Amino acid sequence: MSFFAYKDNALHAEDVPLSAIAEAVGTPVHVYSAAALRHAADAFRSALRTLPAARFAFAVKANPNSAVLRLLAGRGFGADIVSGGELRRALDSGMAPAGIVFSGVGKTDRELSDALDANIGQFNLELEEEGRVLSRLAYVRGRRAPAVLRVNPDVDAGTHAKISTGRRENKFGVSIADAADIYDRLGRLDGLHLHGLALHIGSQLSDLAPLEAAYRRVGELILELRARGHVITRVDLGGGLGIPYREEDHIPSLTDYAAMVARVTAQWNVGLTFEPGRIIAGLAGVLMTRVIWVKPGTAAPFVIVDAAMNDLARPAMYGAYHRFAAVQPSGETMVANLAGPVCETGDTFGTNQEIDRVARGDLAVFHATGAYGASMASSYNCRPLSPQVLVDGGRFEVVGERAIPTERAA
Ligand code: PLP
Repeated sequence: MSFFAYKDNALHAEDVPLSAIAEAVGTPVHVYSAAALRHAADAFRSALRTLPAARFAFAVKANPNSAVLRLLAGRGFGADIVSGGELRRALDSGMAPAGIVFSGVGKTDRELSDALDANIGQFNLELEEEGRVLSRLAYVRGRRAPAVLRVNPDVDAGTHAKISTGRRENKFGVSIADAADIYDRLGRLDGLHLHGLALHIGSQLSDLAPLEAAYRRVGELILELRARGHVITRVDLGGGLGIPYREEDHIPSLTDYAAMVARVTAQWNVGLTFEPGRIIAGLAGVLMTRVIWVKPGTAAPFVIVDAAMNDLARPAMYGAYHRFAAVQPSGETMVANLAGPVCETGDTFGTNQEIDRVARGDLAVFHATGAYGASMASSYNCRPLSPQVLVDGGRFEVVGERAIPTERAA
């Protein structure tokens, strides 16, 4: 189900023609659909509703826009954060502190302190020393920090190497082989209320088998920890489910995912936490752009658009594909190289790709940019951060301004 569809040969976001947004706000612009966000959020929760004491923490890194977070808070989502900035954003957007989970391999003392003072619901510890520091910070406040230990299950998620997080050589979590001993030591600290485990093996996963293998390893660890006398009440299963960037991409259904989780965790007797990001926001956004030039090339012409790698980094970073489509297609196609104006050859969205035929001045979109789109943007080449617009039915609102970080001359 897409909330970006053609009506009278003009691409709309819900009931709003994209050309109206371009006219009002300019391009490039990130456009989100509120209905798509609601749909994805409700589908995720509903698929997993039968699991015990399930909690849902949206991975803020996927899309930290305040309007998006506010909408998700209203759908029962908390937040999975990885920085003090994301903590601030989640709180300012109305996320309940108790629903905030703090992941991340490099939390500073300042960030840990601020999160403690905000009374967040869960710290996901990534190394033993972090647990000791957090315990001290909590103890001097007369508190016990609610914490779980993130384990690295040493499973290859079968996704792009740069977004794989669950192999032994990755920086995340503690080795599952050492986890029980580390848990013993951290479990004795006065400033921690250590009550479970967490894992997250990677993003844009298209196969449930690695997830299942990782979850099973965690299941064995739960048994081991209980045998050592620990009380395990919560396991955070992370995020990672992929979305179809190409029509032919095969992504497991939420129903299959929920059935797998139910099967694997049936005897765990814990509450489960989920940290979905991409699957909630990815298909709820497009990046709209205008063609600046169609420039002759050797094998194919270059379609130079006004969006660039600073607006959408995934193609340059991971060779990722985002479908390009004209806002008012002529029905004809062309083979072209798609590039932005940034002074890097890597500022390329596609090579020798068959696309809708476009000409100078035409509007087009890159699809499925609602997650890891604006959130990974930069102002490289002194380009402004592109605005963000939220469409809801027949209305739209600017929810992020076009802005360039300012500096002062010395
Ligand atoms: N949780 C953690 C700890 C992550 O690092 C990430 C992203 O990499 C996520 C959740 C969200 O992943 P996804 O957007 O693939 O669901």
